[in-house]
This record gives sequence, structure tokens and C-alpha cells, in this order.
Amino acid sequence: MNPKLFEGKETPFYYYDLSLLRRTLTAIKSATADSPHFHVHYAVKACAHPEILRTIAQAGLGADCVSGGEVEIAAEYGFSPEKIVFAGVGKTDREIQTALDIDIACFNVESLPELENINALAAQSGKKARVAFRINPNIDAHTHAKITTGLNENKFGLAMDDMIAAIRRAQELSHIEYIGLHFHIGSQITEMQPFAALADRINQLQLLLEAEGIATPSINVGGGLGVDYQTPDLHPIPDFEAYFSTFKERLQVRKNQEVHFELGRSVTAQCGSLVSRVVYVKQGHEKQFVIVDAGMTDLVRPAMYGSYHHTLNLTSTSAEEEVYDIVGPICESSDVFHTDYKLPTTRRGDLIVFRSAGAYGETMASRYNCRQLPGSIIYSSANPS
Ligand SMILES: *Cc1c(COP(=O)(O)O)cnc(C)c1O
Repeated sequence: MNPKLFEGKETPFYYYDLSLLRRTLTAIKSATADSPHFHVHYAVKACAHPEILRTIAQAGLGADCVSGGEVEIAAEYGFSPEKIVFAGVGKTDREIQTALDIDIACFNVESLPELENINALAAQSGKKARVAFRINPNIDAHTHAKITTGLNENKFGLAMDDMIAAIRRAQELSHIEYIGLHFHIGSQITEMQPFAALADRINQLQLLLEAEGIATPSINVGGGLGVDYQTPDLHPIPDFEAYFSTFKERLQVRKNQEVHFELGRSVTAQCGSLVSRVVYVKQGHEKQFVIVDAGMTDLVRPAMYGSYHHTLNLTSTSAEEEVYDIVGPICESSDVFHTDYKLPTTRRGDLIVFRSAGAYGETMASRYNCRQLPGSIIYSSANPS
């Protein structure tokens, strides 16, 4: 990262390395090249920057959306409708209508009232909506409580016990086509064990369905692969080989069955950074604070989940390191990026970079405290490899 690129640019802003994104997409393609029945979708909520979306769409991935706005933006930036899927516990009539108009591939349905509503709206439009049921597989992803989604106590999906009745109901409805099952167990999952457990669970459920004579053309295993936030420069590209191999080895795929994946964080986290500037260095009694011009309004993950973002001072050439609390300017005590973090001796005006901020960074920015939304710059090296 060359600070010269940032001269004259108002901080804070997001910096996206498009070359790294392209290498990441190439790694996904090569890890799935031997499995033509694998289809990878990108979870738009991780990062919806237009250039990022265009690059991912051009690489041939589909889009996983969780709102009508995401469905619209995915279609606008080049994802073809037959590769767009739409999940979410609270799809409104308007959002469902948008998705019906665009004619997306699949609604991932999370409740019976939602199913009935999609059927009614599809009837009005003279369409048949393809649906998969999101099933809660009750698998512990061993990740942060706020990003675990596959346990019975979560709000997402249908319980396994309710699966067959839901499919039966779907089969009765004239404007619904049942196409399969959908799962998503959580996020920032760095061990393969929860994914293996998910594959085993899906195998069991498939046997149950087959005993009922129900065919399931499509299985969507969701997303959740994690990234290395501690040492991003050692692992800029997640281990897609290990991830896809887990499903190749464990998931018992039937003839003509399609398997869908929805990766968000692992696609874009490492290609993005938040660049900020030191406003003041303040000496407290017990601590010294580096106060930067970026806050939880620009990158909420540390305040919301206690997340770690590897942090660098791009400006300081000091050989000495000092220990700082790195904080933002927002009027909230949780607006803290790090406590007791080592940086080279830091001064007012230095550029401070938070790494691995390309997923759930810019998309979660808010205007709290009447702040401006962060800007962004896209960097693409002359020789993309
Ligand atoms: C957020 C989400 C994803 C992506 O999760 P990552 O952890 O970013 O890979 C996939 N599927 C659904 C339904 C989601 O809500």
C-alpha cells in the first residue's frame, strides 16, 4: 500500500485492491473447476461497492441477496437474474414484487406465512416463484454469538421438524415451485468441522425427503468461510481448496443435483482497508490515545462484535514502538478500534490503516453523529496477476 496514492484524498475512506479481489476470484474458480454442479454466489451484503460487484459478476459468480435493494443492485451491476437468490426472514411485499419482476432464480423462504405471501403475489403477477426452504440445521458454527445463525434459538429458517410439512404445502400451491433446501450456519468460520457437520446433516435430511418421495434438485449450503484477520498479509486469500473439498468429500450429491454456495466475507474482506488520519495523540494518566478521524460509523465491527482489524501506521518512520488505545471520534464509549496496541511512535496527521475491512465495512457505515459516509478508492495494479 503506497501512501502516495492517498495524497490529497480526504480521510477516512475505503481502499479496495481490485487485483487481490481478482486473484481471490481465480482461487474460487480453480477450487471448483472440477465440480461443474457447484455454483458460487456472492453475498452482496458483505460489500456492495459498484466496482466490486461488477468485478465479481464478470467473474461469473451469482448473487445472494437479503433485501429488495440488494436484488435491484445485483441486477443493475451485471448479475444475471438466473443467478440471483434472495433470503431474509422479513421479505416485504414490495421486495418480493421486485424479485418477481426481475425473475430471480430462487426465494430462500424462512416461514410458512412468507411462503403463502409469495404464492399470492406470484399469482397476481401470473408467475411461478421458485423457492427453497431455509432449514435451521441446529449446528454450532463455533463463531461469535452475534454471527451464529444455525442454532435452534436463532430467528432464521424453519426447524428441521417442520421441513416436510412446509415442502408439502409448497407442492400444493399453484404459483410456487419447490426446488430445494437452503442453509447458512454463521460467519467467520475458520475450522472445517462445522461445514463437515452441515454436510452430514444435509445427507440425513435428504434421506428423510427421499423416504417421502420428495426430490430436491438444489442444495444451497450458504456461506460463512472466515478470513485471517490477525495476519492478513500472510493469508490474503482464504483456503478455498479446504472449504470446497469438505463438501466434495462429505456431501452426498444426487444425480443432476446442483450445489450452491454463498460466500461473502471470504470474497471481499482482505481486498479492502479503511484509511484514516490521526487527529490528535492524547496523553491520559494511564494510557495514551491515538484519536483517528474514522469511527464506528465507518467501520462498526470492533464496536459491534469486538472484532480485531490489523492496524498499521503508513506514515511513521519511527523505529520506536509505543502502546496506544486507538479510538474514533464518535460519542460512544464503544468507539474503540484497539486497546493497548503497538504502533511506531505516532503523530497528528499520520495515516492509520485498518486492514481486512472489505467485508461488513463500508456496507455497514452510518451517518450517526451527522457524519459523512466514508469515500472509497479502487486500486488496480498495472499487471493484474
Ligand atoms: C450473510 C449471508 C451469507 C454470507 O456470509 P459470509 O459469512 O459473509 O460468507 C450467506 N448466506 C446468507 C443467507 C447470508 O445471510
